[in-house]
Amino acid sequence: MQKKRIVLSYPSHLVDQPVISKLVKEYDLIVNIMRARITPKEEGRLVLELTGKRAGMEAGFKYLSEIGVEFQPLAQDVKWDEDRCTHCTACISICPTKALDVDRKTMGVSFKRDKCIACELCIPVCPYQAMEILF
Ligand code: SF4
Ligand code: SF4
Repeated sequence: MQKKRIVLSYPSHLVDQPVISKLVKEYDLIVNIMRARITPKEEGRLVLELTGKRAGMEAGFKYLSEIGVEFQPLAQDVKWDEDRCTHCTACISICPTKALDVDRKTMGVSFKRDKCIACELCIPVCPYQAMEILF
């Protein structure tokens, strides 16, 4: 079994199509919708965690490509700008997954992309715009 976190961007004419249910039914994937931003008649964006067998995952990605849905790994969309970060720790208590964490000895803040679920909670609390989510 594989697990992948991806960001889907699909055009307005596909927003009301059963894209996700097809991933589940035809490619035997477990789909966890981590975040959704879908507006009628506009482009839709979803952050998904997919779990399934490698063959199903590859077939599912092929299906998405064929119908014109763009997708990319989630990690590419969440950025921590280390140069901007002052290690003020304002984001630490708000991050639900400890993707942003602090070393209590050095008080240095670090960002672990694989833990980030792109919830955006850190964006408004960071006074230095060190966190950026590109959707
Ligand atoms: S987007 Fe959410 S999970 Fe990711 S670092 Fe920010 S608060 Fe943590
Ligand atoms: S709130 Fe911003 S500047 Fe402060 S530790 Fe977090 S990412 Fe760094």
